[in-house]
Amino acid sequence: MRLVADPITVRVPAKVNVYLGVGPREESGYHGLATVFQSLSIYDEITVEVSERLEILGAGKWAELIPTDESNLAWKAATLVANAYGVEPHVRITINKSIPVAAGLAGGSADAAATLVACNALWGSSLTHEQLEEMAAQLGSDVPFMLRGGCALGVNRGDVLSPVMTRGIFHWVLATFREGLGTPEIYARLDDMRGVDFDEAPSVPNELLAALAQGDSSALGAHLYNDLQAPAIASRPQLGQVLEFGAEHGTLGGLVSGSGPTVAFLVDSEVAAIDFVIALMGSGLVDGAIHAHGPVHGARVVPT
Ligand code: ATP
Repeated sequence: MRLVADPITVRVPAKVNVYLGVGPREESGYHGLATVFQSLSIYDEITVEVSERLEILGAGKWAELIPTDESNLAWKAATLVANAYGVEPHVRITINKSIPVAAGLAGGSADAAATLVACNALWGSSLTHEQLEEMAAQLGSDVPFMLRGGCALGVNRGDVLSPVMTRGIFHWVLATFREGLGTPEIYARLDDMRGVDFDEAPSVPNELLAALAQGDSSALGAHLYNDLQAPAIASRPQLGQVLEFGAEHGTLGGLVSGSGPTVAFLVDSEVAAIDFVIALMGSGLVDGAIHAHGPVHGARVVPT
């Protein structure tokens, strides 16, 4: 094993689910998903360096919300890679966070994917991408996509991926909120709303895949869909008002991202995005508004 002494920094993007179909609750407690992920240009940066013990430091805008113990997915990721190399996981992981926390943007999963890549680079780069993907799937159902980035169809729990063809750049505005929403609570609400007899398997409509392949933002805007949107609005009715605000302001479409509370709006250009960011900030309905574009690549080492 070659030990690289220099710190390694990995950049990893957030994601939005442009389609999120959720099946009935299985006996295991999980739900089958049919989802299309798109990675977005909001990045966390993870730096790993040799240390005397495994430790996590938070930095950046959301630093105080980052868990610094073993509950952090990055901690678990470092431990998995260390086990594969047969070494102690003695690294300092600095998480410079720009992805809002508990926002439905998979920030924790992004950090886990980035830590897999960073620790592999630190300890000799001998694990293959397939091995890293296997570890990613053990860490959580969104982690394999965060490793890959781009645009992908996810089935099973969202962890079985196939690439989705896209053309061009899609411009997004994300309405963000200081207070997060808990993913398990939103799934439980969905189950309650549907009742015990619900048994429809989810599937992604061809029109949505065609819109992505053609780079047609208007068509994509018309087909954005999320089964978790209704329970997220039931938990936080303000999200419904934010969606209405977007519709009145000529966005191409909007939806709650993942389990929320972030609301993602598709717009047709960078200029439209900047205008809508200003409008949203003036609305008094949101805590923040971020312009992002997608798709972008997944977790990658930042060249020194
Ligand atoms: P989910 O993957 O459940 O949809 P999310 O994208 O909505 O999550 P995250 O930012 O991943 O939200 O945070 C969810 C929870 O995970 C937080 O409450 C936090 O305590 C925990 N967590 C674990 N590791 C991290 C991390 N590296 N960054 C942020 N939160 C983390």
